[in-house]
Amino acid sequence: MTNSALKKLEGKVAIVTGGASGIGKETARRFSSHGAKVVIADIQDEKGRDLVESIGSHCCTYIHCDVADEQQVISLVHSTLQLYGKLDIMFSNAGVLGSVEQDILDFDVSACERLFAVNVKGMASCVKHSARAMVDKDIKGSIICTASIFATIGTDKYIDYTMSKYAVLGLMRSASKQLGAHGIRVNCVSPGAVATPMPCNTFGRNEEGIERLFESSSSLKGVLKVKHVADAVVFLASEDSEFVNGHNLVVDGGLNTLQLTPPAE
Ligand code: NAD
Repeated sequence: MTNSALKKLEGKVAIVTGGASGIGKETARRFSSHGAKVVIADIQDEKGRDLVESIGSHCCTYIHCDVADEQQVISLVHSTLQLYGKLDIMFSNAGVLGSVEQDILDFDVSACERLFAVNVKGMASCVKHSARAMVDKDIKGSIICTASIFATIGTDKYIDYTMSKYAVLGLMRSASKQLGAHGIRVNCVSPGAVATPMPCNTFGRNEEGIERLFESSSSLKGVLKVKHVADAVVFLASEDSEFVNGHNLVVDGGLNTLQLTPPAE
């Protein structure tokens, strides 16, 4: 539990999409321990409700929302306003990786509809409707979108996912310019590989197996955990980052700064 003097989000109201699992789940916990009222939005209803039970229903609510459906996003924001009266923070984090490893030569153009509906259109709906609610109530809010390290360094696989995450950066950069005049900040967090159900399911490994797979991919010793990403999101959500806007905060232990060693002469 965070000491009350150190609570960075006291009195704030936050939505966390994809909040029932992984990075979103840990961030929902952090937001609430920092004093925020939290709405967890997801399509995994049982997990979402279990999380509310463990955080406490006095400061946390679960709402079913498929972010790919704009009407459900509208209804999510509307219900949040009805419940808590305002919206200060949107952590637009829901995303899917898909299961197919494909490079550009194999790219199945017709099969990426769902991935783009969630990762790009869903992300844009969440930014749009949370920003509208903030502008309407003159809230100087913070919107954080989850991109990915792949949107900084590219990848030799997952072309569709990587394209979708570059689109998230474009959304964030444009929205940050357009909303800055309203005092609304828009930033991204870009995690490296974290052992959540997403990579575990895709790579067919448990948490430990994923951590072992990626443990040498950063310049720091140790492995990236959901808490490292959640800490970065709390920073972007709080007044600690009050003049940070249009920024992509990469949390990858230095993976993106590693240089290829030139071949020996
Ligand atoms: P996760 O699978 O643990 O969590 C993702 C959550 O999003 C799940 O609860 C899922 O039900 C929810 N979700 C999926 N589709 C949804 C939809 N249409 N509407 C609402 N909710 C939906 O995975 P995670 O690793 O915590 O992923 C969170 C975000 O982090 C994603 O955007 C992902 O792309 C990104 N990310 C993850 C990693 C990683 O290595 N884990 C790395 C970089 C970026």
